[in-house]
Parts: sequence; C-alpha cells; structure tokens
Amino acid sequence: MLAYDDKEPQGHPPKAEIIAVGSELLTSTRIDTNSLFITEQVNRLGIQVDRKSVVGDGEDQIASVLRSAVDNAEVVFVTGGLGPTGDDITREVAAKLFERPLSFDPAIMELIEARARKFGFPLAENNRKQAMVPEGAKVLPNSKGTAPGLLLSVHRTRLFLLPGPPRELKPMVTGQVVRILKETFPVSVQLTRHLSVASMTESRVDALVEPIYSQYPDIQTTILASPGIIHLHLIHPGGSREGDAMLEELIGRIRTTLGDSLFTDTGKALPQIVGECLREKGQSLAIAESCTGGLIGKLVTDAPGSSDYFRGSVVAYSNDLKEGILGLPSSILHAAGAVSDAVARNMARSVCEITGASVGLSVTGVAGPGGGTDEKPVGLVFFGLCLGGRISSRKHLLPGGREIIRLRCALLGLDWLRRKLL
Ligand code: AMP
Ligand code: MG
Repeated sequence: MLAYDDKEPQGHPPKAEIIAVGSELLTSTRIDTNSLFITEQVNRLGIQVDRKSVVGDGEDQIASVLRSAVDNAEVVFVTGGLGPTGDDITREVAAKLFERPLSFDPAIMELIEARARKFGFPLAENNRKQAMVPEGAKVLPNSKGTAPGLLLSVHRTRLFLLPGPPRELKPMVTGQVVRILKETFPVSVQLTRHLSVASMTESRVDALVEPIYSQYPDIQTTILASPGIIHLHLIHPGGSREGDAMLEELIGRIRTTLGDSLFTDTGKALPQIVGECLREKGQSLAIAESCTGGLIGKLVTDAPGSSDYFRGSVVAYSNDLKEGILGLPSSILHAAGAVSDAVARNMARSVCEITGASVGLSVTGVAGPGGGTDEKPVGLVFFGLCLGGRISSRKHLLPGGREIIRLRCALLGLDWLRRKLL
C-alpha cells in the first residue's frame, strides 16, 4: 500500500532523479525533453533534481539506473518504455526488480478499448501489456494515450513510471503527479517569475539590472540569453507573503529601468504578447516576408486564437513574386534592389491593400551565408510597417549564421510592431 500521508519532515526538501528510457534518445536524432519539463514542474514545488540519466531499452541498463536512483532519491521519475511494443519494458523491469508481480487490470483494458473505438484504430494483442499493473501500484490514468502512468512506493522512494510521448506526459505531470507530490511533500513552494526582454543584448540588460537585483540577495536572479530575447528568471525560495512583496518590488524597479523593452513578466512568448496587443486594439495583421520565408507567420500562429487578429502572411521570396503577387513596381526592385528600404516600405503597404488588414509588417534581408556584398552584407535587413495608413521603416545589421539571423529578424520585426502598437 502507498502511504500518502507519510509526509516528509518539513525543512528537508526531497531529492528527485529522472531517468529517460529509450534507445532513440541515445541517437543524434531524438532529444530527451521530458526531463526538462519535469524539472520545471518539480522545481516549483521546491523539489530539486539531483541527477538524471538517459538509458537505452535494455533490461540490464534500465535495472541498473533504476536501482541506483531509488537508493539515491526520494522521488524518481522514469519516462518512456510503457508503450505496447516489445522494446518497451520499463514496467516489466521495475516489477521484476522490486518484486512486484504484474497482474492484468480489466478496468485499464476497458479504457484502452474505448479509446481505440473512439479513434478507430485496431488493438493488437500487445496492447494488453499496457493494462498490466505491478502489485501495490497506483494507476495514473492517461487522458491522451493508451499507457497509464504508475506510481510505486519503494522503501522511502516514490517511483513514477510515466509515458514517453510529451503530449501524454505533460498533462499527467501537471495534474496527477504535481497533486501527489504536493500531498506527500508539503514543502514551501518557491516563487518564480519569468521576465522577457526584446531588442536588447544580454550585456546591456545585465549592465542595467545588475545594480538593482544585487540589492536583493534573497532572490536568485538568472539571466538567460536566446537569439532575440533575453530572459530574467527571478526565484524566491520561500513561499511567504514577504517573498512575494519583495519580488513585486524588484520587478517594479526592473520595469522602470528597462521600460518598453521588458515585454512581459508572465513568461509568455513575444508573438503571444503582440497578439494580445493587436486583439486589445482591434487591429488585424498581415505580413509580407522575404528572408524569413514564413517564419514570422509561423511564430504569430503559434499563439492559439491568432485567427482573431492575423489575416495571413505572403512569402514573396523571389523578385517575380514581389512584383506578381505584391505588385511592387519592377523599377523600384531594380533601382533599389530587393533588400532595400524602398522595397520593405512597398511590401508593407501592398500587403495591407491586398489583405485589407489594418497593420502590415514586412521584412526583406540577406540571411546568408552567400549573397552578401560590401554595400549589402549578410545580416542586413529592412523592415516596413504600415499602420493607420502611415508607412515607416527601419534597418538593422544582425550578427549570426543564417538560422540565427532569420530568427532574430522575425523577433525584431514583431517587437518593433509591438512597440508601435503601445
Ligand atoms: P515510448 O513510451 O518509449 O514508446 O516513447 C514513445 C515516444 O515518446 C518516443 O518515440 C519519443 O518520440 C517520445 N519520447 C520518449 N521519451 C522521451 C523523452 N525523454 N523526451 C522526449 N520525447 C520522448
Ligand atoms: Mg521507447
């Protein structure tokens, strides 16, 4: 039996360990992202990850890391290897190692059958495997797939066996696993805030905010740079009201210093914030993209509900399409060249006219690695914006390789639009 009321002593945060099972995760083509997600979720509960491993689908390998993890940590998460196929053996290895014989649970099989009927896929004999439960395990129903998760108590360790596919794992962790951990380890919850800054370099952000956050030794501040966006993670380890007030005060001072460059303190992505601005102002957006090849449209439509404000994106990569679809005069294309202020401005105006959108954003640039000249080097980009019938433009020279230039370019364009909407 599991003893959920067997709470850990206060002031002694539990250690967690994560094991990602799957031979594909040891190749160069698949990456273990589940452990990052689990880490983020348990950190919020004040639980630190002490060690993690990636292991192939072999019985001996899984058994050896599992034994060591249960010796080491109070909470162990295993992801993957619960599937129906022969190489998925996590459940069987754990049952054998901890001497918990497996038995068939008809209720799980019924859920699996109901799911198969709903989505019209045939069940194979090996799906029965997913209805096998180790003795004493708690079953964690899977709303997104066939394999339920399992929770075993092994000595003083809670051992979670979780499905590998991220879309199945995530809701199980944020729902059931977090709920069980909160009940089992009532440690104080750490307070975390994610601030995001656009169109500034990491060193500039740090130079401005370091004199402020250094005055708050109780708050851990981390600056993380990604192309185009700088993230500030603020963590107060206690869950107290004073901690919350201290975080609010620090965020207020950072906001005053960074001004409009700080676009959120909620961790939301820039395209989502831009979308919220557009929705709030009742504006509709259309984009004309050249060097980003549709990336800006992709980022904008990553936000659920973007059809409220996004009309679409025209990817006019060639001059032919800039003329044929966007109707740019060939005289401008020839005189100024495709990567030019004049072309960016015309693209923005034209995409508004064609789509009827109230806001038009355009970009044209040299993403490289070839195609650069002294006059127009790799990384040179021009943005155009048509807003309220007025056209504006701007020019940037971006560092990095092709991929980074395109991503920076997309984010810079979106950030410029956001500032214009303020
Ligand atoms: P499995 O449950 O082992 O059959 O895994 C099913 C699929 O989930 C794999 O093919 C991967 O695509 C994905 N997956 C498994 N483990 C992980 C992981 N640690 N991180 C991200 N994806 C994973
Ligand atoms: Mg697998």
